[in-house]
Amino acid sequence: MFGYSKKSNEVNVISRSKNYHCPRCGNKEIVDYGDSFDCPVCRREFRKADCDRFDDDEVLSDEEKLDMINSWEKRSEYSDSMREFLDD
Ligand SMILES: [Zn+2]
Repeated sequence: MFGYSKKSNEVNVISRSKNYHCPRCGNKEIVDYGDSFDCPVCRREFRKADCDRFDDDEVLSDEEKLDMINSWEKRSEYSDSMREFLDD
């Protein structure tokens, strides 16, 4: 009898699952990583939390976030050297 009660745990998993799609191309064939997912078409990784919070065109992939941080760092380096230049 116990052998037939295996399925009782699966209900929670199904009720929590939500269908995510790629915010860039709308692809629904995503690779699910739990907290994030990957679009095999765009080859970008997106956070599910970002997709819950933002519209599709506002969601940034991890790569785009890194690009943004890098450009911010470059800009602050630039403004620091400008400030030193102006202080002279
Ligand atoms: Zn995509």
